[in-house]
Amino acid sequence: MQLFQENISLRPYNTFGIDVNAKLFSSFANEDELMALLSEKTVQTEQRLFLGGGSNVLFTQDFNGVVMINRMKGIELIKEDDTYYYVKAMAGEVWHQFVMYCIQHDMAGIENLSLIPGSVGASPMQNIGAYGVEIKDVFHGLEAIHVKEKAKRFFNATECSFGYRESIFKRKEKDNWVITSVTFRLKKRPEFHTTYGAIQEELDKMTLDKMNIKAVSQAVINIRQSKLPDPKKLGNAGSFFKNPVVDLTVYQAIKEKYPNAPCYPIDEHQVKVPAGWLIETLGWKGKRIENHGVHEKQALVLVNYGGSTGQQIYDLSTAIIDDIHSTFGITLEREVNIY
Ligand code: FAD
Ligand code: NAP
Repeated sequence: MQLFQENISLRPYNTFGIDVNAKLFSSFANEDELMALLSEKTVQTEQRLFLGGGSNVLFTQDFNGVVMINRMKGIELIKEDDTYYYVKAMAGEVWHQFVMYCIQHDMAGIENLSLIPGSVGASPMQNIGAYGVEIKDVFHGLEAIHVKEKAKRFFNATECSFGYRESIFKRKEKDNWVITSVTFRLKKRPEFHTTYGAIQEELDKMTLDKMNIKAVSQAVINIRQSKLPDPKKLGNAGSFFKNPVVDLTVYQAIKEKYPNAPCYPIDEHQVKVPAGWLIETLGWKGKRIENHGVHEKQALVLVNYGGSTGQQIYDLSTAIIDDIHSTFGITLEREVNIY
């Protein structure tokens, strides 16, 4: 069997819809197929990229190496006690379908993370988060295979060094490991997180006899569908930038000029400033340049209206970063992985 296809368009494999080619392309559906790929000299020597749903990447040029799609499927309850279910999901499972599976089985904890695109395997990469919940809150462990040594290892939460949209896999160990499965510790008795954003408001519109995780999930889905562009219709990778965490003194200086500047406390000395507010304040929201721009409803999201190149979107992000820096003295960091 031919392991690699040559010169394959990556357009169907990234939610920005950027039309670049991969020099070599393959996929794997189980550990044996992954091991076979890792045994190939090409995979060991060429530039390589293990891709899930392609919803957190921006391709700025052709990928001059091997792109490998993770198609490992399966969800399994591995153990339970009085308080928790331990559920293992293979990396190629679609994240939202996994969330739906958990809700169907009354496994609580990830309902606030409904409708995040992408795969289970990528979820620890940036410790995905939304509406006050991050996967680190429900994370038990993951299995990953070292690309060079081809050995499997279990990582617990501490070993993953989770931070705000961060993990060891996005930093120190970048591109060294293929995550093959993730195990979540989900609650039998739910704790609802409904104070964040408009969740409670959305729940109030529903006539509920009793609060439940399905309703929280539906509230999150409704809000997301009303605010965020659907990548199937408009190319994007969600929030392009991270929300900056700055010293209180930096924020106080901004507040003197912009009394309505929002912030959220991190600790005694630091606050998180919504990057969307910074971008909107400087007039970028809804701005369109040729075939790309800043989404009209969500300033953190850069969009491809069709036919834009990744380099054009990258250049737009640089212009925004420069503008924010010269006005506010804050350097925005890109959340999306650039290739
Ligand atoms: P990919 O884009 O395929 O890969 C991202 C990175 O992870 C790449 O560097 C890739 O090499 C690496 N990777 C992927 N799979 C593996 C693996 N198995 N092993 C090792 N490395 C791997 N993110 C949030 O945190 N919160 C949100 O609320 C959110 N909302 C979004 C909304 C929209 C509309 C969109 C388009 C994106 C949103 N995102 C959000 C970003 C994105 O969905 C997440 O980061 C998601 O986890 C990416 O999954 P993926 O499978 O598409 O990853
Ligand atoms: P929002 O509710 O309009 O809020 C704007 C920003 O303020 C968010 O980025 C959020 O930070 C912060 N915020 C709001 N309420 C907060 C609170 N009570 N405590 C701390 N921080 C608060 O945001 P949105 O754009 O509609 O997104 C809603 C949620 O989905 C957010 O959690 C966001 O991170 C997530 N989301 C993520 C992506 C992505 O690609 N990463 C894309 C879309 C949505 P946080 O971002 O830190 O939560």
